Amino acid sequence: MAENPHSQLASQDFERKLAQREKERSYYEVKVSELGLSSVERFRRFHPSPSRLLRAGGVFAHRDLEGVISAMGSQTSWAAVAGVNPSGPLHLGHLAIFQELRWLQDQGAEVHIPITDDESYLTGKTPSLAVANRTAHESIIPSLRGLGFLPERSRVYVDTDTPGIYTLAMELSKSLTINKAQKVFGFSPEENPGIFFYRSAVQLAQILLPQYPEYGGPKPSVIVVGIDQYPYLLLARDVAEKRGLTLPAGLFVKFLWGLDGLGKMSASRPASAIFLDETPEVAARKIKRSYTGGSSLASFQQEKGGVPEICPIYTLRAYHFEKDDSLKVACSTGKILCGDCKAQAISQVTDYLEEHQRLVQLR
Ligand code: SF4
Repeated sequence: MAENPHSQLASQDFERKLAQREKERSYYEVKVSELGLSSVERFRRFHPSPSRLLRAGGVFAHRDLEGVISAMGSQTSWAAVAGVNPSGPLHLGHLAIFQELRWLQDQGAEVHIPITDDESYLTGKTPSLAVANRTAHESIIPSLRGLGFLPERSRVYVDTDTPGIYTLAMELSKSLTINKAQKVFGFSPEENPGIFFYRSAVQLAQILLPQYPEYGGPKPSVIVVGIDQYPYLLLARDVAEKRGLTLPAGLFVKFLWGLDGLGKMSASRPASAIFLDETPEVAARKIKRSYTGGSSLASFQQEKGGVPEICPIYTLRAYHFEKDDSLKVACSTGKILCGDCKAQAISQVTDYLEEHQRLVQLR
């Protein structure tokens, strides 16, 4: 008897999603091996209360975290840094990084958060510098306050309001050469080397600022970033060595899948992202329409299971809300279907947005 055409389509779709999972897995494996990064597995296993992102596999590698790990268990001062481009309101993709930073603060870090309005403007993500600066003050800073960073151990600053960052960038630019920048970034001759050089010097200043005298001098530090920011870490380590500073470490976070299934969650594709300032109703509509790692044929999904690793709903729930692996198990064994899973996601996101927006109003 001929196979049901619906089953055939479901089967092809499932194969495509498995291939997508392999591509995703090998992307990160290749990065780890090409860049000589280390696995976070031991850190995750031996930490008595790892972060949710670490447990869920959202943090996938590190570079030289050992100094920071020893500082965690002692009275030594250490720092964690993660920046944000104020090209729009914060969304759940940013939140994963800031929740990790908040967890590092619980482990003893002093936290530095540069808000890079200059970069938003220079890279054309905002129409003017004034717009980027306004977004930083009116949207990003209130949202960050809602995340509960401890004020006495946090430094949040907007680049163009902070002359000290440019004084330091100017100083550090003396250690940068165009050859070095070319080697690390490999930019093409058509790119504007002036902007490139400027951004590199300012990023170096942001990464190394916690080690300057006004912040207590040389100390272990870690930047929490996506792998696309690795070249800046490399450059910062090179300059730190020349200047007698402690080489900064890196903790690398996977991108959160966009709800449209087309890549990472991004403000430039509003349907892909859930913004922290949008209403739960708008967020719920986006979740209902989201791409998933499941099948349109319930019986097929019950039999074969879903593919959580490439499912935006899974990463959203695992990185932000789930306490253990049970959703991953339920999804891959077909015990839960996408309709129910999305309904649970809507409830989690609604509770989170309501509470976050209440806290933002209060602070
Ligand atoms: S059941 Fe949930 S996690 Fe699994 S594929 Fe469907 S939406 Fe994604």
